[in-house]
Amino acid sequence: MWRAEVFTLFPDMFPGPLGGSLAGEALQRGLWQLAAHDIRDQGIGRHRAVDDTPTGGGPGMVMRADVLAASLDAVLQKDDSRPRLVMSPRGRPLTQARVRGLADSGGVIIVCGRFEGIDERVIAARGLEEVSIGDYVLSGGELAAMVLIDACVRLLPGVMGKEASGTDESFENGLLEYPHYTKPRAFEGREIPAVLLSGDHAKIEAWRRAEALRITQERRPELLAKAVDEEAKKR
Ligand code: SAM
Repeated sequence: MWRAEVFTLFPDMFPGPLGGSLAGEALQRGLWQLAAHDIRDQGIGRHRAVDDTPTGGGPGMVMRADVLAASLDAVLQKDDSRPRLVMSPRGRPLTQARVRGLADSGGVIIVCGRFEGIDERVIAARGLEEVSIGDYVLSGGELAAMVLIDACVRLLPGVMGKEASGTDESFENGLLEYPHYTKPRAFEGREIPAVLLSGDHAKIEAWRRAEALRITQERRPELLAKAVDEEAKKR
């Protein structure tokens, strides 16, 4: 079963929002598992210290390599083949394609950073891959880990209904999604586009594709250029 193994200084933050709604229901139904491990259990001395000052000077504190390594080693089997990730603004940006890959693996191992960051040596020594959820800085990796887990969990078999398989969504075909409408037919003088009420499925599909292209061009032209490139390569 798909299992997220999270290493954090704040295990009580979990499941947090992952305990509600779609992910939470799936957790209760046993469709995935979550374990949050307290890095501080391997802390040093009476105060269970996990951090120290940056070598070479500078502000803040750095998570110690030996403490984090001991925390990982105490829990993980050597032959555990799940991707080992560490949340980091320096990491490779998370994409829907990567999320699909992670959802298709047996689960994930995620380290949540705190302070100024983590001693570089443990990242290398334990083969951790740095992953970012965007070009901004959070105060810790926990929320970032939750974002990643939520994105994976909704793709696991049985979590979303058949009618919402996720294959038609933003990023799945390289484009942003078309606009949605529902009742009422008129809202504050704004009508639902007539084509969507026509019952002509081919026309509706063509309209949605055109809208997806228009919105992607307006908001994320670099995505459109990439999608066009990929299409050309397939031909
Ligand atoms: N000094 C670091 C830097 O400039 O890159 C930022 C450290 S941040 C205050 C503390 C922790 O939050 C990081 O170690 C990381 O685990 C997490 N974090 C912050 N922003 C993130 C992002 N955009 N994506 C993923 N993790 C993030």
